Amino acid sequence: MTAYVAPQRDIRFALEHLVDLPGLSKLPAFAHADPETVYGLLEELGRFVSDVLAPLDRVGDTVGSKHDPATGDVTTPPGWRDAYRQYADAGWGSVPFAPEHGGGGFPWLVAIAMQELLTSSNMAFSLCPLLTQGAIDMLSHHGNEEQQERYLRQMVSGEWTGTMNLTEPEAGSDVGALRTKAIPAPDGSWRISGQKIFITYGEQDMTDNIVHLVLARVPGAPPGTKGISCFIVPKYVLREDGSPGERNAVRCIGIEHKMGIHASPTCVLEFDGAVGFLIGEANAGMRYMFTMMNNARLSVGLSGLAIGEVSYQQALAYAQERRQGRAVGAPAGTASPIVEHADVRRMLYTMRSTIEAMRGLIYLNAEAIDRARQADTAEDRTEAEELADLLTPISKAWCTDMGNELASLAVQVHGGMGYIEETGIAQRYRDIRIAAVYEGTNGIQAMDLVGRKLPMRAGGVIDDLLGRIEALDGELEAAGDELASIRAALAAAVSAVRDTTSWLLASLAADPNDAFAGATPYLRQLGITVGGWVMARQALAARSLGVDDPFNAAKVTTARFYCEQLLPQAAGLSAAVKAGKDVLFALTPDQLGG
Ligand SMILES: Cc1cc2nc3c(=O)[nH]c(=O)nc-3n(C[C@H](O)[C@H](O)[C@H](O)COP(=O)(O)OP(=O)(O)OC[C@H]3O[C@@H](n4cnc5c(N)ncnc54)[C@H](O)[C@@H]3O)c2cc1C
Repeated sequence: MTAYVAPQRDIRFALEHLVDLPGLSKLPAFAHADPETVYGLLEELGRFVSDVLAPLDRVGDTVGSKHDPATGDVTTPPGWRDAYRQYADAGWGSVPFAPEHGGGGFPWLVAIAMQELLTSSNMAFSLCPLLTQGAIDMLSHHGNEEQQERYLRQMVSGEWTGTMNLTEPEAGSDVGALRTKAIPAPDGSWRISGQKIFITYGEQDMTDNIVHLVLARVPGAPPGTKGISCFIVPKYVLREDGSPGERNAVRCIGIEHKMGIHASPTCVLEFDGAVGFLIGEANAGMRYMFTMMNNARLSVGLSGLAIGEVSYQQALAYAQERRQGRAVGAPAGTASPIVEHADVRRMLYTMRSTIEAMRGLIYLNAEAIDRARQADTAEDRTEAEELADLLTPISKAWCTDMGNELASLAVQVHGGMGYIEETGIAQRYRDIRIAAVYEGTNGIQAMDLVGRKLPMRAGGVIDDLLGRIEALDGELEAAGDELASIRAALAAAVSAVRDTTSWLLASLAADPNDAFAGATPYLRQLGITVGGWVMARQALAARSLGVDDPFNAAKVTTARFYCEQLLPQAAGLSAAVKAGKDVLFALTPDQLGG
């Protein structure tokens, strides 16, 4: 199996030319995050993930985490505890957080670039830091001073981990249906009772404490999402001095046997009058949880990129080694490496160019989150926040759909061996499947995009984004014939998106079901188009850097491939976006059975 190597040069290119890391590091809050420091961090992390995390990925898959029903304990696979200790000791989890809580104060963009390395090398491991980071972000924004004082430093240092407890048997996509109860206690704390399912790293043996963030209902709470409150429920209740004390009444009663990410324990947690502490106001928990979910949605989107990248590395290595058939033009009697066949090249180019497009989109999203928090003027902050809100469902859903498709292509490149576990590529395919489901299924993301994000500022936010894409036309035109195909394809895609966007906004007002019927093809259409914008900018940047460098020349070629051969799919989706609900509802559920 090929060893994972962090794509440092591609990441640098994206940080400098697809987003503006140098510009971000000029903001006062990020003055210490100059690009050279960031690249140094990424180099070091690249060594850590290759040396420590990647070698554990296989044992994670084959051994998995184990649950002891007698004690409720969960044992992570061999090597996991030590790897986690090394991860925490090096301070990798603290990089983007506030210095007053022990963090490094780096942009979220940097944390996202780092997360790609963690996820590519070992997706099951990376989920523990991912959820902890989301919990830290949530507490940093909505926890009171005392709560921040008592929990944040240890979470930022990695001494304790965090979890997110939304899902219950009857409350999946419909979080508002949750039933877990919170009863006030005389001392001002709360007692939490109920069952949560599918809780990632809800129990583990790597840290002294786990900080669960739990959604529950207080007495008299209104129904639905308006009646949800958010609580801190530590595995061990803290003593006065802040050290973990008595075991709280929360217990893992089982872990799921899953298709992939076997080492990541997916826990059923039973809360039986557990001590909890209310975050902010009662009944405002859903709003607070959105801080964490938006953050986690971007990270889950990133997993599509990360697994796409490592799958590509494996597929490419296999295609260079495996000999089969004689490529057109090769000497008679020889077997060519399969990388010489046009169809295999198509698969590899599809993977590579989509990875580059995804990286650009994810970084744009992360940069917008940083600017929303730290830009100089209120106007800039608002504009960036709107962009981040618009891009988040696209990053989550398009990138995880693509992650699935690219992992599938990587299996295809391996032929029959792709279906055999020992090559390791089957694990990528199994691992990434869940990313299109959790953190809000991709169908729910598409409805969020159409139902909530398009109507932002009466369509003004999407209009601004499409305007920015169109504004590239002058530069593409000036680049002449070489980028003419990119220019034409981008113009056609944006024009299609303008048309479907207007149709959806009008339909939402007339009959939302017509709009929701087209939400998924629209999200894909917009994802492909934003990807085209990224690739057009990549081609311009690589050209101006000089195509005598093979690295830059390859960037122009993959951009051309994407725009000439993948981007035209965008316009082809318009019919599905605008078809409306009629055909979808023409058959009754019984008729669907045949
Ligand atoms: C490995 C794993 C880890 C997880 N980790 C966590 C975690 O750490 N914390 C946590 O709280 N949860 C976690 N989850 C739960 C996860 O977020 C949910 O599974 C997910 O939100 C979907 O909910 P569901 O499974 O109930 O599916 P359902 O909601 O039953 O959805 C089934 C299908 O119906 C569609 N659907 C549902 N409602 C609608 C609607 N209104 N309109 C259109 N389509 C709809 C969905 O898109 C989906 O295709 C995890 C799940 C897994 C499998």
